[in-house]
Amino acid sequence: MSQPLARDVAVEIAKLNGVCIRPLALRRLDLRTGTSEIIDVPCGSTMEAKCPPCATRNQHLRMAQCRKGWHLDTEPVVTPDPATEDQRWLIEFRADLQARHDSAEDPSDLAEAIDAVDAEINTAGLRGSVTGPTTPKRSRSTRRRQDAPDLPKRKMAPTTLGRTFTGADGATYRPSLFVTLTLPSYGKVRNGIPVDPAAYDYRRAARDALHFSKLVDRFVQNLRRVAGFDVQYFATVEPQKRLAPHLHMAIRGTLPRAEMKQIAAATYHQVWWPSTDEPLEQIPVWDDEAGYLDPATGEVLPTWDEALDQLDEPQHVIRFGDQVDVKGILSGTQDADQCIRYLSKYLTKSLGEGFEGRQEHADRFLDALRYEPCSPTCPNWLRYGVQPKHAKRGMLPGHCRSKAHKPDHLGYAGRRVLVSRKWSNKTLTEHKQDRRTWVLEALGQPDEPTDPHRYLWRPVKAGDPDLAPLGVRLLRSIADRQRWRAHLRDLSATEEEAA
Ligand SMILES: [Zn+2]
Ligand SMILES: [Zn+2]
Repeated sequence: MSQPLARDVAVEIAKLNGVCIRPLALRRLDLRTGTSEIIDVPCGSTMEAKCPPCATRNQHLRMAQCRKGWHLDTEPVVTPDPATEDQRWLIEFRADLQARHDSAEDPSDLAEAIDAVDAEINTAGLRGSVTGPTTPKRSRSTRRRQDAPDLPKRKMAPTTLGRTFTGADGATYRPSLFVTLTLPSYGKVRNGIPVDPAAYDYRRAARDALHFSKLVDRFVQNLRRVAGFDVQYFATVEPQKRLAPHLHMAIRGTLPRAEMKQIAAATYHQVWWPSTDEPLEQIPVWDDEAGYLDPATGEVLPTWDEALDQLDEPQHVIRFGDQVDVKGILSGTQDADQCIRYLSKYLTKSLGEGFEGRQEHADRFLDALRYEPCSPTCPNWLRYGVQPKHAKRGMLPGHCRSKAHKPDHLGYAGRRVLVSRKWSNKTLTEHKQDRRTWVLEALGQPDEPTDPHRYLWRPVKAGDPDLAPLGVRLLRSIADRQRWRAHLRDLSATEEEAA
């Protein structure tokens, strides 16, 4: 068989066996013995288009995590674990990737790898130690403070658990909520396509998508104030047919439906950014001494901080639409299972996947997104006469490389799964760790903590002579996986006989 053909076959067998098809080769140096070997680490992608086995595994872990916290009846104990070996090498590995990224000619692939590692690190709850000291927030004048929404406010009880109810039969019920929150209308749509594209408010749709995660944060703050307890949630951000993001949220505990609707209606977020209503006539030019200048007038553009100091009104205000869906759910019911499936259904797809028949609508939306600033550092600020934060030579409006502008993200570059800190006792990494411990115990191998300073991990370059072709590496992993499974089957058969 030719090599590419053999590789394709190996990829198909890997998929059938749940083995990662895009493993990341890492060289592990054992400082105790001085030996080194190449180890394939699963890519960990959440996207089916990249790696179906990893995406499915992640989806199942998320479902388990959602189920775990929804109807919890005792307070979770949240104690951060000391960094494990896994987490330590993630951090070292990220530092390596960053160094290579900074010196690479085309860093886009590495940028993607860094994003993936960041996602993993964030799930492991190590964000603070990776991003380093945070810069102090700028003080804002009082007139820019967000008004408190007009909502009832209950006294806070120190609990994360919802109320229970006793039925006529004496049984205790612990209801929870399933809520869907949607953005407002931008114009009439049929099957996700605007009836009159010229009248559809693409600009508003683009800005709403860019700031959606902030609105969700506000909603949670307001929800907790009204509920009067430390409400916990597991939420996913999904695309609607009309290509706007919306939110499905499993909430522990319950509130009256009318109150949930009232909270959604009262929630809003103001974006205190410079105005983007009037573009400059000409693209600003860079000057090594002064920064960006307006070529028409020769004047230096205001810096980001200067522009912020001059604001009188927000650039944008975002709210939810009228469509708020609230459902009461009892634990252990079919309804609960169905909601969990529904919540996680599209997690393996990107927000912009599959525009079937909606390509023109998607193109118009992406056009609108192209010149909207996605963040303070976005080059698009130049178009509106403001120097982006950390301005540097070579910035060009309309060519921002951030995720938010890409077809896969459609303006929403935030995380797809949002889980509150006290949802369950376990982080996703601990859920993974559980399964590992269980397998090792079943195999009679104690899951001993390894010396965290024993190994050094380094990325393996593509042309490394020690790196076997992908097909060979996949077949090796498949064989490992099958050996494991056979061993586990034997074990459980022996146990059954003994019993
Ligand atoms: Zn994978
Ligand atoms: Zn941008």
